[in-house]
Amino acid sequence: MFKKILIANRGEIALRIIRTARELGVKTVVVYSTADEKSLPVLLADESVCVGPPASNASYLNIPNILQAAIMTGAEGIHPGYGFMAENPDFAEMCREHGLVFIGPTPESMRALGSKAGGREIAAESRVPVVPGTGILEDLNAAVLAAKQIGYPVLLKASAGGGGRGQKVVRTQDELKKGFAQAQEEARLYFSDPDLIMEKFLEEFRHVEVQVMGDGTGHVIHIGERDCSIQRRNQKLIEEAPSTLPDSLRQEILAAGVRLAQHVNYAGAGTLEFIVDRDGNYYFMEMNTRIQVEHCVSEMISGLDLVRMQLEIASGHGLNLKQEDVVLRGHAIECRLNAEDPAKDFRPAAGKIDDVHFAGGPGVRVDSHVYTGYVIPPHYDSLIGKLIVHHDNRAEAIARMKRALEETVIQGPKTTIPLYIKIMDNPFYKRGAVMTNFLKTRMDM
Ligand code: ADP
Ligand code: ADP
Ligand code: MG
Repeated sequence: MFKKILIANRGEIALRIIRTARELGVKTVVVYSTADEKSLPVLLADESVCVGPPASNASYLNIPNILQAAIMTGAEGIHPGYGFMAENPDFAEMCREHGLVFIGPTPESMRALGSKAGGREIAAESRVPVVPGTGILEDLNAAVLAAKQIGYPVLLKASAGGGGRGQKVVRTQDELKKGFAQAQEEARLYFSDPDLIMEKFLEEFRHVEVQVMGDGTGHVIHIGERDCSIQRRNQKLIEEAPSTLPDSLRQEILAAGVRLAQHVNYAGAGTLEFIVDRDGNYYFMEMNTRIQVEHCVSEMISGLDLVRMQLEIASGHGLNLKQEDVVLRGHAIECRLNAEDPAKDFRPAAGKIDDVHFAGGPGVRVDSHVYTGYVIPPHYDSLIGKLIVHHDNRAEAIARMKRALEETVIQGPKTTIPLYIKIMDNPFYKRGAVMTNFLKTRMDM
């Protein structure tokens, strides 16, 4: 096992990684920007190194400073968390060149799967269905032709996009002609890559994703699936495991996920995202080659520590579990606690936390880096924590989540908690038939 690792991230995920590392006796170094000097991961890590000013580009994305921090402190590996450097194959390669272990898949498989176009190709090779669509669009003419074939509405996606950004719905040829160049330009601006792909725009579906772990030599297991259909602006708010899909369909999707990951000899933790429509058709969307925000619900139903498994695989201890060793029990739900005002289109609400009290009791887990007096910096995303519950079945898990939400006090910024309490009472949600348009169609948002 590693003696010391560096964590190239912030917030709740930096804390999450520190917690497992401490249990394993692995020393931690956390990097931080000047805006995060007083954050909990910085206070709890064995060492911390300031890598720059608040802007992510100058700190959490500052490769020379991060590598230097790792070398200077004698860290053997770098855990990238999610976001920031987590899906950057160039960074993974530079780690390797500097004798540091990137705790994640190889740069080669990140490159192959990192773009949406690449993911679609690999899915086709693995006989996994994809949404009707294209590879990288050469130019506007190619886009017009493709849209004619696919049928409007279509979705333009930045091939390098992520985090729910870089997507544009196009309903007519006229709109496509007007919007294509702009979408390319936005993709170039946000993801340093103008390439676009096109997919059929689906109006109503569930987002179901498969958690996998691979050892890098073709041994891949799944740790069940998660339903992440409750979203706003293509970003997830509530996730649960298992999904409420019929068991035969679940098994088919799980097998498809494992097949695809096996095809690339995947190493470490990864997530394969699928769209499932009303008729039970499923389509692969993309693979996230990292730990995911919502990994905790899979941990709750499996009893496994996914970060520990990442560290074991990256340090050369392999993947010591067979599929039949993974036993899933009960139902888990996660609510992302965001400092946002749901009544004002989820506008971010930075500022000071005047008072915070988290829920506890049976089957409740809180992953959060905030404390009373903590000031939420305006420079990063609005996730201030995650509330996760586990119970024997879905109905009991919903009741437990409602209880835990009602116990939680966060004074200062507006949060998404009041919205989540309403969702836990919503009959459609309770029935488990929720699609990604739930907030719009069922909650009037
Ligand atoms: P998850 O399902 O883990 O939430 P997301 O796609 O929402 O996955 O990404 C998690 C975090 O990573 C978010 O903070 C998001 O903004 C960020 N992120 C993901 N992909 C990218 C990317 N390509 N560029 C910038 N940020 C990204
Ligand atoms: P990202 O890398 O930003 O996470 P994804 O391809 O995973 O991009 O899509 C994010 C979300 O956008 C999905 O969870 C889904 O809600 C929506 N989405 C993706 N593809 C489609 C599609 N073809 N039609 C309609 N919505 C889609
Ligand atoms: Mg996605």
